[in-house]
Amino acid sequence: MDININKLKNKESNFSYSRVYFKEVFGLNLFLYFVFILTFELTPSQILFSLFLILLLSTLLLYLIGNKRRDAIEKITSVIHQIKINEHMSADDIVLNPHLEKIENDLKEIHKKNQDDISNMEILAQTRTDFLGNVSHELRTPIFTIQGFLDTLLNGAIDDPNVNRRFIKKAIKHTHNLNALLNDLIDISMIESGQMRMQPSYFDITKLIESSKEELESLSNEKNIKIKTKFVSDDVEVFGDKDKLRQVFVNLISNAIKYSESGNIKIVTETINEKIKISIQDSGLGIANVDLSRIFERFYRVDKARSKDAGGTGLGLAIVKHIVEAHGSKIEVTSKIGKGSTFSFSLRKK
Ligand code: ADP
Repeated sequence: MDININKLKNKESNFSYSRVYFKEVFGLNLFLYFVFILTFELTPSQILFSLFLILLLSTLLLYLIGNKRRDAIEKITSVIHQIKINEHMSADDIVLNPHLEKIENDLKEIHKKNQDDISNMEILAQTRTDFLGNVSHELRTPIFTIQGFLDTLLNGAIDDPNVNRRFIKKAIKHTHNLNALLNDLIDISMIESGQMRMQPSYFDITKLIESSKEELESLSNEKNIKIKTKFVSDDVEVFGDKDKLRQVFVNLISNAIKYSESGNIKIVTETINEKIKISIQDSGLGIANVDLSRIFERFYRVDKARSKDAGGTGLGLAIVKHIVEAHGSKIEVTSKIGKGSTFSFSLRKK
């Protein structure tokens, strides 16, 4: 309900602004009056006259107090109203009488919080719109491609032995991309809505790295890339969610393969204080400095075509970052164009 200040002005008299002081003013005046008539011996007409004077004085006093309060209350009401309807104003526009400094500061604080909340909401709304735009765009590409291959096959290519198997294989590849994208989207929405629960326990990090590496060996063999390991010792237990960390290793190792033409990948573990630092080094394409700070953003790709061709969703590193941070750690990256990249993070040791 909006406060109509003009209406308020019309309805409320100065007396109603000072009504909280009625009792005090009349009480005090009555007290002074009795002191007065007890001190001086007054005739009945003088008593009546002084009573009339007291009443007049009280009324005048109430009027003046009300007038003063009215200005202050109207100013406060107007500021609250402006904050409420979010009218453009700066904190410096909130100026009350010096004796209302505390209320002035409180209103300034409320105004600032209100402005912060509004700009956060605007950022969130923009992020959501951008995200939905990106998702639709990412979904459209594989769906259109699959549709295209199927249409071509239906229009005759199915009987052409030179292309039919190739087209079907390409369509299947895009269904895999679609599936990967949907899985990553589910993960990212679970993470961001706070539904991804961590189930930490102590486990052998060496074994986890070895099994993630085995999972990806057929991919690295295809490109003649060797995955080497250098472990601090054979059985080191760390604290974390094993399944989520497997996802981290699979993402980082498969990126190292995807973005390398040849060469080696090295996975190193080392003890630093109470932690185990894990690094995944590749000798691939490398990442330019301008892109380094952005590769953890959702859908950010340095080379779109290469990423899509390799089945990348553009969400892998965003998921990795979330998972690593949920382990109280930070993902670090160093890279040099043409020389390769190193991604590293630490986990608590047993
Ligand atoms: P994608 O699914 O595209 O691989 P990611 O979120 O995993 O998405 O990575 C984001 C981008 O960061 C990639 O598109 C790629 O350009 C770059 N990138 C990630 N890892 C590496 C790497 N090891 N070497 C070079 N570039 C990389």
